[in-house]
Amino acid sequence: MKTLTTILDMQAWSRRIRKGGETLGFVPTMGALHAGHLSLIRKAKAKTDKVVVSIFVNPTQFDNQDDLEKYPRTLESDLKACEDEGVDAVFLPTPKIMYPDGLTIELKAPALAGRLCGASRPGHFDGVVTIVKKLFEAVEPTHAVFGEKDYQQLAIMRWLVKDQQLPIEIIPHPIVREADGLAMSSRNQRLSADDRRHALALARSIKAVHALFDGGERDVSKLLGLARDILNAEDGVQIDYAEIVDATTLEPISTITQPALYAVAAFVGPVRLIDNCVLRP
Ligand code: AMP
Repeated sequence: MKTLTTILDMQAWSRRIRKGGETLGFVPTMGALHAGHLSLIRKAKAKTDKVVVSIFVNPTQFDNQDDLEKYPRTLESDLKACEDEGVDAVFLPTPKIMYPDGLTIELKAPALAGRLCGASRPGHFDGVVTIVKKLFEAVEPTHAVFGEKDYQQLAIMRWLVKDQQLPIEIIPHPIVREADGLAMSSRNQRLSADDRRHALALARSIKAVHALFDGGERDVSKLLGLARDILNAEDGVQIDYAEIVDATTLEPISTITQPALYAVAAFVGPVRLIDNCVLRP
């Protein structure tokens, strides 16, 4: 497995691969890799000839300094996990490499970034779009895999390649969960045993909303009422948002007639967690 730290070395490696006619799959991450990330890597390996994983905790997408400082960093075990998965190259830039003169030109995320996580984390998606564009320019992949766990981010990545006319195919991957339903997240490492139990309310709300929807309920206020009851009943869980929106535009809806997204974000102890599911009539 090749370890690359500069943009020029990354580009040179990537161009050699693509010159040989091979496809290159890219999995951008912030490290602290878990089975969810590994599942994205396996998808990339199944779809493309060579796979690059980047590990970079991007400071410009954090709206909270404490969250940035406490973000888990486990580089040694991440590298071992990548090696074990048969990753061809890891790209490990530093903030100085990605932002040599600090944050100079920042891209602006589209309108669909204004809702859900974008509404409660101002500037977050501008930071995401800016860094992913820079990573795409360094890695020059043919394909890039993003998890549906960050559903809004995935939608914005689809917008990014369309808007900037990038020759990159975006490949989505479903949410990977722990056996008890908790969506895997690097931030789960920061949960105490009690918080870990409280956090299950998010997945419980997903299951309950899905079951009510499968039973024929299409009224968003009824579905959300159930979700909020479950979340509010759990001590230690503070809802940031719980919404049902159009799955494509992320615009609010009152009745489900087309695929819709139930998305939830909540603070559990010191950690903000997100989860979601798509409801398809
Ligand atoms: P992160 O390291 O949190 O920035 O995530 C890197 C990529 O892994 C993003 O595309 C995430 O959506 C994806 N990801 C993180 N957790 C999960 C999960 N539990 N299931 C599926 N994809 C995930």
